[in-house]
Amino acid sequence: MSLSANAFESLELKNVGRSFGGRDALVDLNLTIRAGEFIALLGPSGCGKSTALNCLAGLLPLTHGEILIDGKRVDVLPSEKRDFGMVFQNYALFPHLSVEKNIAFGLQMRGLPKAEITRRVGEGLALVKLEEHAKKLPGQLSGGQQQRVAIARAVVLEPRLVLMDEPLSNLDAKLRLEMRTEIRRLHQSLGLTTIYVTHDQEEALSLADRLVVLRDGRVQQIGTPEELHDHPANWHVADFMGYRNLIDLTVESVEGSQARVTGNGMDLLAKLVQPASVGDNIRVAIRPSDLLVVRPGESTTGRNTLQAQVNVVEYQGREFAVGVTATGGQNLFVHAEEAPVPGATVTLAVDPARALVYRSNLDEVSTEQRELAEVRG
Ligand code: ATP
Repeated sequence: MSLSANAFESLELKNVGRSFGGRDALVDLNLTIRAGEFIALLGPSGCGKSTALNCLAGLLPLTHGEILIDGKRVDVLPSEKRDFGMVFQNYALFPHLSVEKNIAFGLQMRGLPKAEITRRVGEGLALVKLEEHAKKLPGQLSGGQQQRVAIARAVVLEPRLVLMDEPLSNLDAKLRLEMRTEIRRLHQSLGLTTIYVTHDQEEALSLADRLVVLRDGRVQQIGTPEELHDHPANWHVADFMGYRNLIDLTVESVEGSQARVTGNGMDLLAKLVQPASVGDNIRVAIRPSDLLVVRPGESTTGRNTLQAQVNVVEYQGREFAVGVTATGGQNLFVHAEEAPVPGATVTLAVDPARALVYRSNLDEVSTEQRELAEVRG
C-alpha cells in the first residue's frame, strides 16, 4: 500500500481552543506532530480529548487557533477535504454491506477505477487479516473483527492522518490487548501518522511515540512514554500514570533536589519535582511497584522505611499487590514478592528517588479538606 503519510512533514496545532456556550472544553493546545508519529491524547472523561480530535477532523469548528500542515491552514477546510481517516469507538460500519463493500465504499465515493478499488480492498483485507471474511456482513463478525474492518476502511483511503477515538473501548479485555498489538503492527508497517484518543494510560503508553495528557481542557504534559512514566510533571499526571499513593505531607528541610517530608507518622526523604520550601504542604507520589514489602534479612540501606499493617493481598502473576495501613493511618498500595499475611505488620521501603514531591495547591485539595480549612478559618 502506498503511503500518503509522507505527503506532509509536520502538522501543527497552534493555540487550538474550543468552547461550548462560553465554557472552555479545550484551551490553547499547542503541538507539532511529525509525519509518521503516533500521538496519544490521554486523560480522564471530559478532559477534552474528543473535542481535540473532532476539531482536527473538521467535525467541530475551532473557537481559537489554527491547524496547519506544512505551514498551510487546514482548519478552514471542510472535513472531507482534509484527507484524514477516522476510526471510531462504535465502528460505524454499514450493516447491510459486506466487509469488502464496506472497505470499498470510500474508494467508490472518490470515483476510483474499479481495478484500483479491487486491488486496494484486497490489500486492506490482507492487512487486517480478514480475507476469509470478505463476503460476510458486519453482524456476522466479532467486535474485534468489526473494528479491523473499520481500520481497513480508513487505511485503504491512504489518508495523510489517521484519527482514532477510543477504538478499542467496546472490546473485552483479551481482544483489546490483541487489537492493541494489531494497531501497533499496522502503524509500524505503514508508518501512518496517527492521533489516538484514549482514557487508558496503559494503552497510550504501549502504543504511542508521544503522549499528550489533558485535564480540564488543558495540556498537563507532552512527552514520550518513558518521560511520562518516570517523570510526571505534576501530581495529576502522576495520578494518571499509576502513582496510586498520593500522600499529603509537609516539607521539613530541603537540600538540593531532595526534601525531608513528614506528617501522618511518616518521615521520608523524597525527590523535589516541583520547587518547595520548608513548611510547604506538598503531595508525595509513589508507585505501588516502588513501595516494596521488605523480605526478612533484606538490606534497606539508602531507602526510606516505614511500618504498616497488611489489609488485603491480591495475587498478580509474579508478585502480590498489597493494601496496607501505615502506622499513622495512611492507606497505601504496595508490592510484595512473597504473600504477606493479612493483619501482619510489615516493613516497607522506597528509594528517595522514587518518592516524588509535587505542589498541592489549595485549589487542588479535596473539597473535604477545603471545607475543613474554611471551618478552621
Ligand atoms: P470522554 O472520554 O468522556 O469522551 P473527553 O475527554 O473526550 O471525554 P470531551 O467530549 O472532549 O471530553 O468534552 C470536554 C468537555 O466539553 C466536557 O466538559 C463536555 O461536557 C463538553 N462538551 C463536549 N461536547 C459538547 C457539546 N456538544 N456541547 C456542550 N458541551 C460539550
